Amino acid sequence: MAQARDYFSSDYADARRRFTEAAKAAGLTVERHINAKVKGPKGEELSTDVARIGPKDAENVIFVSSGTHGVEGFCGSGAQVGYLVNGLHRELPKNTALVLIHAINPHGFAHERRVNEDNVDLNRNFRDHATPPPHNAPYAEIHNILIPADWDGPAREAADTAIAKYIVARGERTFQAAVSTGQWEFPDGLFFGGKAATWSNQLWRRLIREHAGKAKRIVHMDYHTGLGAYGDCELIYGPNKLKREDLARARAWWGKVTSTSDGDSVSADVQGVNPAAIAEEAPNAEVTAIALEYGVVPVMDTLGALRADHWLYSKGGGDIASPLGNAIKKQIRNGFYGETDDWKERIYQKGVEVLRQAYKGLQG
Ligand SMILES: [Zn+2]
Repeated sequence: MAQARDYFSSDYADARRRFTEAAKAAGLTVERHINAKVKGPKGEELSTDVARIGPKDAENVIFVSSGTHGVEGFCGSGAQVGYLVNGLHRELPKNTALVLIHAINPHGFAHERRVNEDNVDLNRNFRDHATPPPHNAPYAEIHNILIPADWDGPAREAADTAIAKYIVARGERTFQAAVSTGQWEFPDGLFFGGKAATWSNQLWRRLIREHAGKAKRIVHMDYHTGLGAYGDCELIYGPNKLKREDLARARAWWGKVTSTSDGDSVSADVQGVNPAAIAEEAPNAEVTAIALEYGVVPVMDTLGALRADHWLYSKGGGDIASPLGNAIKKQIRNGFYGETDDWKERIYQKGVEVLRQAYKGLQG
């Protein structure tokens, strides 16, 4: 019998192969959306792959997406493969379709970065770019110390000292919020939301229209990692504009669901997240959207890994073959992928529970 570890991959190409093979074995066709502007680390084509199960004009559509944050895709990909291998799609309620979106940010997944090919955090990119972006003053204040001029010399030491002082004075939570809420002014910075809709943003909108344009009820489960204790899962209400009735429904289905706007989540109150596109592309649908946020390492280690990775690509020339580059890439992977059997087992088992709860919720 297959075990959860068998669903999880060693890299993006392996993940894509496992996903497409599992879909084909389940008798499904896979839609492939190639991002023609980019290539993988071995020069390979990069794509988002989509498998749909269920009636064409289903009233209910459940989207399960992986890799919004690139390297976090190891987690969601494993769950998606497991769903297919174990036939979770055969338990679908009536009039319901399941749409599995594999690696919505394939460049980030393939290059093991949290951002996309434009250094954009896809989950800060869903805002109206025709209007002036919010000014994130707390981020602007610390941008230079997040990404110092060098990573193994005096500039780094000075930056680390400044960050330590900041945390002593204002607390870790304030620091986390300043870094991760999202910013739209520093294109080489962390949690940069971009100045235009990215390739992945446009594709997600198109998939919503094509697969759920006429749906009455849309469910979105978006897999993430990087916050919380090792293997723990926090369900976070998706949209950044809180709708009380949607949050109440999510809690009725899944039990504890936190909300970034209520301040009870491990996540900061982020802006420009992907469920915003559902409300815009399918305005008449009832939307129940959550992020499944799985823990790997302590949050300060995660932020440290992100600082290093951003330094590597913005100031370190992107030299991943150097000893320093290699160490940083390991740090990023370890920050977002718990590569032990028990971690994979917990990710998958919780993922099954959450999907089955959505099935039940839609029948209620
Ligand atoms: Zn994430």
